[in-house]
Amino acid sequence: MQEHIINGSTKVCGLLGNPVEHTMSPLVQNYLARVTGHNRVYIPLPVKADLEAAVKGAEAMGFLGCNVTVPYKSQVIPYLSEVDELAAQIGAVNTLVRTEQGWKGYNTDMPGLHRAMMEDGVEIAGEKIVILGAGGVARAVALLMARNEAKEIYLMNRTVEKAEAIAAEVNAKAGRPVVKAMALADYMELPSGKYLAIQATSVGMHPHTEEAVITEEAFYEKIHTGYDLIYNPADTKFMQLVKAHGGKAYNGLKMLLFQGIIAYELWNDTKITKEQAAGAYEVLAAGVERGVK
Ligand code: NAP
Repeated sequence: MQEHIINGSTKVCGLLGNPVEHTMSPLVQNYLARVTGHNRVYIPLPVKADLEAAVKGAEAMGFLGCNVTVPYKSQVIPYLSEVDELAAQIGAVNTLVRTEQGWKGYNTDMPGLHRAMMEDGVEIAGEKIVILGAGGVARAVALLMARNEAKEIYLMNRTVEKAEAIAAEVNAKAGRPVVKAMALADYMELPSGKYLAIQATSVGMHPHTEEAVITEEAFYEKIHTGYDLIYNPADTKFMQLVKAHGGKAYNGLKMLLFQGIIAYELWNDTKITKEQAAGAYEVLAAGVERGVK
C-alpha cells in the first residue's frame, strides 16, 4: 500500500455534523485513498452552528466532496444546487458532490444497505419483509424495499402511530399498498410464511448487548434471514436469536462500509474493487473492536 502523503495537490473531503468525534468514516475514506493511490484526505468537520456557512465554505475552499451526518441530513438540502432523485424521495442527504453549479446531494445510506445485502446474497424482490422500528432509518429502509419489488412489508413499531405515518407515505410514493403498519406486540398476527427481518431499532446496541426488541421464540420461527442494522456488537442478541432458530443473520457493518465506498466512488469517479472493499471492511471492523464508534 502507498504511503499517505499530504501535499499542495491533496484534495480534501470532510464530514459535516455534530458531534463527529466518534466517526469511523475517516478510517474508511483515508484507507481507500491509500489503496487507490488517489491524493486525498478526509477529515471530520464539527459544525456547531451555521450549516449554510459551512456548506458554502467547503465549496469556496475547493473541497472535493463532503459527507453529512446527524443532525444535518435534511437541514442541508436547502443549501444544495441539486438533489438526486432517491435522496429527494428519502428526504435525507449524506453525500455532497461538486458540480459546476455548487453541491449535488445524494443519499448513499440506502444504496449502501442494498449493496451490502447483494454482497451477502440477501434478496429483496418477491420477499415478505418485516421491518422492526419506525425511526428515520426504518422509514428509508421501507422505501428501499418498496422500490426494489418487495412483495409485502410489515412495519412494526412500539409506537404504532409512527409506523402508520410511514406506511401511508411509502405506499403513496410506491404507488401500491405494499407497507402495512403493526404494533411490535402483535407479531403473532403476521400472516403465515417465512420473512426477511430488518432490525432498525436502537435496541441491542452496545452496551445493552443482551437486549433484543422482540425476545419471544415464536417470532424467530417466522424469520429465514435477519439483518440487524446495528454493528456494535458484531453479533447482536437479535442475530443470535435468528441463528438459534435456523436463520441466517448479518450485522450493519457492511451497510456502513458501502455507504462510504459509494461516496468515495461518486467523488472520485472510480469503482472500488472487491479486494479494496474487503480491506476497508477489515479496517472498519478493527475500529469497532477498538471502541471507535
Ligand atoms: P431513531 O429515529 O431514533 O429510531 C429508533 C427506533 O427504535 C424507533 O422505532 C423506536 O421506537 C425504537 N426503539 C427505541 N427503543 C426501543 C425500545 N426500548 N423498545 C422498542 N423499540 C424501541 O433511530 P434511527 O436513526 O432510525 O436509527 C436506528 C438504528 O439504525 C440505530 O440505532 C443504528 O443502530 C442503526 N443505524 C445503522 C447504520 C449503519 O450504517 N449500519 C446507519 C444508521 C443507523 P419508538 O418509535 O416507539 O420510540
